[in-house]
Amino acid sequence: MKKKKHDILVCGSGMIGMTFALMMAHKKINVCLIDRSSSNVLQKKIDSRTTAISQGSSRIYNKLNLWNYLRKESQPILKILVGDGINNENLIFNHEEVNEGPLGFIINNNFFKKKLFNEVSQSKFIKFYPNTEIKKINNENLDNSVAETNQGPIEFKLLVAADGRFSNTRFQADIKYRFHDYKQNAFVFNISHKNSHKGIALERFFPTGPMALLPMKTKDLKNSSVVWTVESEISEKQKFKNNFRDEFIKIYSDFFGKIKEFSTINKYPLNIYSCNEYSKKNVVLIGDACQAIHPIAGQGFNLGLRDAKYLSDLIYEFKEHGIEPFNNSLFKMYEKNRFMDKNILIGATHNLNRLFSNSNRISMSLRRLGIQLVSKSDFFKNQSMLFAMGLRNFEI
Ligand SMILES: Cc1cc2nc3c(=O)[nH]c(=O)nc-3n(C[C@H](O)[C@H](O)[C@H](O)COP(=O)(O)OP(=O)(O)OC[C@H]3O[C@@H](n4cnc5c(N)ncnc54)[C@H](O)[C@@H]3O)c2cc1C
Repeated sequence: MKKKKHDILVCGSGMIGMTFALMMAHKKINVCLIDRSSSNVLQKKIDSRTTAISQGSSRIYNKLNLWNYLRKESQPILKILVGDGINNENLIFNHEEVNEGPLGFIINNNFFKKKLFNEVSQSKFIKFYPNTEIKKINNENLDNSVAETNQGPIEFKLLVAADGRFSNTRFQADIKYRFHDYKQNAFVFNISHKNSHKGIALERFFPTGPMALLPMKTKDLKNSSVVWTVESEISEKQKFKNNFRDEFIKIYSDFFGKIKEFSTINKYPLNIYSCNEYSKKNVVLIGDACQAIHPIAGQGFNLGLRDAKYLSDLIYEFKEHGIEPFNNSLFKMYEKNRFMDKNILIGATHNLNRLFSNSNRISMSLRRLGIQLVSKSDFFKNQSMLFAMGLRNFEI
């Protein structure tokens, strides 16, 4: 088979890979995007989840001229109520307190992916190859690197790995990662309830794991998406499986009125993959391929999007100065810029889960104290809101 040749090869057309390709196209830079799945699978409704897109991320899509379209199907989050178990001592994050618009938006993954896929298909700067999987990378020679795929060789100068938490590209490039199994499962489903959610999201912490209710965009605002995390020891027992709905109803406690309908329930085992180095030779990682974090704060996608944004800006700047995209100083700048943002979120989500998902007395007092402290300090509250909204960037 004839060798294909592309300066920038992107492996993985999930939400991050597709967005990165569109960012490059927006700057009129050609990329080749591959995915092991068929176009049909990539467009079919297979992801029943919703994603909480932060205010900062919505602004990134605005710059790509996509937000006007995406916003129509996105539910603005106006308030987030945080509680330790079922009690009324909620910490309230209200968008009105920071004056930056909604705290974030809940978007349906199927709708989101479909729009990104259509944009990718229509772009003259993106060459998309479905059914294409990298088997081996040969990048001893940086001027003549080759990805051996099931569809034949692809020559590249820069390989951007966006192939998710189990990234094979990361393995091929020999980039080490840290792994931790949370021994928890996230159950994801949608409910329709009697009352309107009025744009309110709820995060409740239980010793067995956190439960998030995310407001969905529907005509009557009476649907929410649920991400309920339960430790595996409990959630894999037959008794739990048999009583799933009743157990959920107990912790939901009619927050938005009685539940009228449950959608199908999908289970995601939770673990963390995080890399200490984000690149090697001419391979660079973005999104879940670089760090796949606990969904406790709904930040994994937003973090990956910032990887994509920063990397695409750097490549553009380097190209403007006539420097090849695999230049080592580009990777150094990428690592330096992304280090704090990634490590703060990886640490925060990991420790939040540890602190809140247990019934240890010390942890219980610590989290009550934490909730009280944050709710009493306008400064802390506003800073944490701005950080979660993706509007505070930490750089070193
Ligand atoms: C239950 C749950 C809820 C979540 N909720 C939120 C939320 O509310 N907000 C938020 O910000 N984040 C959330 N996240 C995290 C978010 O879903 C991920 O961070 C995001 O989807 C990662 O996207 P990605 O494109 O990097 O990877 P993926 O979506 O995994 O895409 C990887 C792509 O690569 C392709 N691929 C894989 N291997 C190969 C290969 N060898 N060759 C070619 N192609 C390959 C796959 O087919 C796929 O298309 C949640 C995660 C979970 C588990």
